[in-house]
Amino acid sequence: MKDKLDRWIAEKIQGSSTPKKVEIAASPNRGNKRRRHFDRRKRFSKNKPVVNRPTKVRIIPLGGLDEVGKNMMVIEYGRDLMVIDMGFQFPEEDMLGIDYVIPDISWLEERKQDIKGVILTHGHLDHIGGIPYILPRLNFPKLYGTKLTMGLIQKRVEEFGIKKDTIMNIINPDETLRLGPFTCNFFRVNHSIPDGVGVIIDTPEGKIVHTGDFKFDYTPADQIQADYEKLAILGREKKVSVLFSDSTNATKEGHTISEKAIGETLDTIIRDTPGRIIIASFASLIGRLQQILDSAKKWDRQVYISGRSLVDNIDIAERLGYIKVPKGLIHDIRKADKSPGKKSLVLTTGSQGEGMSALTRISLGDHKNVKIKKGDTVVISATPIVGNERAIYTVIDNLTKLGARVIHNKIMDVHTSGHGSKEDLRMMLDMVKPRYFVPVHGQYYMRFAHKEISHETGVKEEDAIMMENGNILELSGGKVVLSKDKVETNYILVDGLGMGNIGSQVLLERQALAENGVIIVTLKIHKKTRHMIDVPRIETRGFIYLKEAEEILKEVRSQIKEKYAILMKKHPKPGVQNIQDYVTSVIDKYTHRKLQRRPLIVPIVVEV
Ligand SMILES: [Zn+2]
Ligand SMILES: [Zn+2]
Repeated sequence: MKDKLDRWIAEKIQGSSTPKKVEIAASPNRGNKRRRHFDRRKRFSKNKPVVNRPTKVRIIPLGGLDEVGKNMMVIEYGRDLMVIDMGFQFPEEDMLGIDYVIPDISWLEERKQDIKGVILTHGHLDHIGGIPYILPRLNFPKLYGTKLTMGLIQKRVEEFGIKKDTIMNIINPDETLRLGPFTCNFFRVNHSIPDGVGVIIDTPEGKIVHTGDFKFDYTPADQIQADYEKLAILGREKKVSVLFSDSTNATKEGHTISEKAIGETLDTIIRDTPGRIIIASFASLIGRLQQILDSAKKWDRQVYISGRSLVDNIDIAERLGYIKVPKGLIHDIRKADKSPGKKSLVLTTGSQGEGMSALTRISLGDHKNVKIKKGDTVVISATPIVGNERAIYTVIDNLTKLGARVIHNKIMDVHTSGHGSKEDLRMMLDMVKPRYFVPVHGQYYMRFAHKEISHETGVKEEDAIMMENGNILELSGGKVVLSKDKVETNYILVDGLGMGNIGSQVLLERQALAENGVIIVTLKIHKKTRHMIDVPRIETRGFIYLKEAEEILKEVRSQIKEKYAILMKKHPKPGVQNIQDYVTSVIDKYTHRKLQRRPLIVPIVVEV
């Protein structure tokens, strides 16, 4: 009996044993935080937007417009499709136990044979992270990206065991790529990872420019300039119909600080700090890592690296020629604590306070090879991504308690963003001079701020278009209209490695469980007569404080008995499912009325 109950609860709580992927609805109402992901399941007629008249190009963002993350856009002409980016998003607070959110490709799945190619603008996970989940479902369309981007993708598809099916093509940003009716040219951009590009697409109905993620940095760490000339030519020709541009930092004034300035600050810290230095940064910030390695060499410090993504990325970047590691500079991490502080520098992951990361383990005194000593200086060369603030400040607290001095962006400029601020965005608009403008990448308020900037550069009110995920922009003869049709864009949640569909029920249950605990009610009934035998047994976990619980549970018990009698009058032979549903609703009503709580209710009916 106990076993059966445990299994029952386990199933209730974890979903079921087989299905791993959850599909839940995207909610158009971002303001209503609680349950907003689950309540409104938007349904669109699935087949309607599939048919396209050949005189129109249709542009459909499947992700990246209601969030920072899971970027993906589809461009269609006649039967032919091309895709830009396949990212994922890290889950939001109330998506309990979920690993990632990926774009909804159900519409695209029906058209997989029409995909001419997928362009990946750069190697960040919000642009390539969805590949292992999405690619197999689309029958492995060809991928195109620059050398480093493809190197990072190769690593991921290897990890997922799909490398042999993945077709990877390296593009040279100065060459033209033809994908069916689309002629693609590229321009280099500055960003927080090397080798990022934007795309210029000539379609039969007009020219489209997609910036990818970008900023303008006159002194980038990798010394490769953005392709200003290509952009300026676009503006002089005045032939760009629509510009899609990155809005992440549209609310930030001025220009984004140059990577070189950050390198100089870090260099000063590395020179002047008397003891050991531990620097936490993003593993993909290759340019920053190069500057740190150079400074370490210059000021005679040995470098120790902790964190798998950092080791992997430095390895890939070095192999492909994007980073130069001075000979003999990097030492075995296991010797980190043995080298004299003045002579050592530890590079680590965990700048976001991630649970299992190296820096978090260091802050808890839990790291095998790096124990904080008095006199250590920790530099957090990153800013917290929204939602990570609490985790990272806890890490800072713990490091400080252990005796470290912690330098972060609120103290010195030890980090700069990879995204253009207002002046960078204005410059892009000024150079490209598009007829129409669509702000992409970012939540609504960011994109709206970007729209305002576009008006300052001369884009008319009605020519700046606010789109949502799933909207369809139709381009015909150089003019655009926002279609009334929409394609389905539910939140697709990845829960574990496997795939398969279960409803939003699992998430609702996890949420109820996390917020209000669980009530397990066991009813014994007579197999034939269906009468209740004994009093119902009630157990709770995480529900309410025990002293009050006694009184409440007594009341719940008598409610069940009383209502069960009513049920028996209405339906003399209730089935197990009927009884379970009925008992659940009785308890739910009662606890909600009495306590304003909605615990997870698990009714168990035993027939004897
Ligand atoms: Zn990026
Ligand atoms: Zn991005």
